[in-house]
Amino acid sequence: MAKSSSSHHQDAIKGLWKSVVPHRVEIFAWLAILGKINTRLKLANIGIIPINEAQCILCGLCPEDCSHLLIHCPLSWQLWCWWLNLWGIQWSLPSNLRDTFNQWAHPHHGAFFKKVWLASFFIIIWTIWKERNNRIFQNSSMSLPQLQDLVLLRLSWWIKGWEDPFPYSPVDVVRSPACLQWTTPRSREATATNPPPLPSWCPPPTMVLKWNVDASFNPILQKSAIGGVLQDSLGHFKCMFSSPIPLMEINAAEVFAIHRAIKISLSCFQIQDHSLIIESDSANAVKWCTNKKGGPWNLNFVLNFIRNASGNDSHISITHRGRASNNVADALAKQGLCRDDDFLAWL
Ligand SMILES: [Zn+2]
Repeated sequence: MAKSSSSHHQDAIKGLWKSVVPHRVEIFAWLAILGKINTRLKLANIGIIPINEAQCILCGLCPEDCSHLLIHCPLSWQLWCWWLNLWGIQWSLPSNLRDTFNQWAHPHHGAFFKKVWLASFFIIIWTIWKERNNRIFQNSSMSLPQLQDLVLLRLSWWIKGWEDPFPYSPVDVVRSPACLQWTTPRSREATATNPPPLPSWCPPPTMVLKWNVDASFNPILQKSAIGGVLQDSLGHFKCMFSSPIPLMEINAAEVFAIHRAIKISLSCFQIQDHSLIIESDSANAVKWCTNKKGGPWNLNFVLNFIRNASGNDSHISITHRGRASNNVADALAKQGLCRDDDFLAWL
């Protein structure tokens, strides 16, 4: 018997609100499953954009409706296949998102991996949607490997919001996704000997955003890299970057990390007017940036830019805090050592 559309809604909603990802992402998935997101085809059909602009921005081949964009577009499809291949799964994706969600199950039985699996559905469609928006509104695009890294990074960050004492860092997850098959230690002894590290990150005041930046140096590879993460007062991730830079002394690299955070902030109209705190774990870098002069002469150009941007009447302040508060930035900086190109993502 054909199901009524309200029972379809019930099916779709069931199992959706498990808080494995931020609420805004659950809401997006819910709207997408119900076909209520504003795709270009939908906007064209109601006359908001011309019909000749209804093409999918990712491939330019088909009209952008929900199923095409989030499942069948070649780029999206490759992202789904990459995730399924990671776990040795062959699956022909259903024709629409609702069936995809309802059939989204994995035979691996661990309770933790079940949550990973559920979260991956949300994260893949969210990552496709954010990429689509970046291409339309920011005129910037990522490659498939970058999107794959982003799926793993979002997953490993959002795992931090769960109660599980998952012991791996975002970098570990990106390097070897197999660590997601971790199982919860059952005995109290096991949890007692491996207490989860306590986050010592200190949130900024309401209406203020905070960058944590860090630099990394690998003497064997002879490489330097910088990384940073922007969060609001609730700890929500807003933006992150991870970039290789020319080989340089670590305090100088920290100055470049601060410089990059400011550049990104000033170039984004959504946060241009926010007050910003930039936190670095290098006391030297912070001292050079906040003093009117001093610091290595060869950094003068960069330091002057930072001093101008964070001067007396500016909404940007630069502070020093210990390494313990900087886990994510540290991980992104280390990840930059393995990159050939800049990585920047708005979440
Ligand atoms: Zn497409």
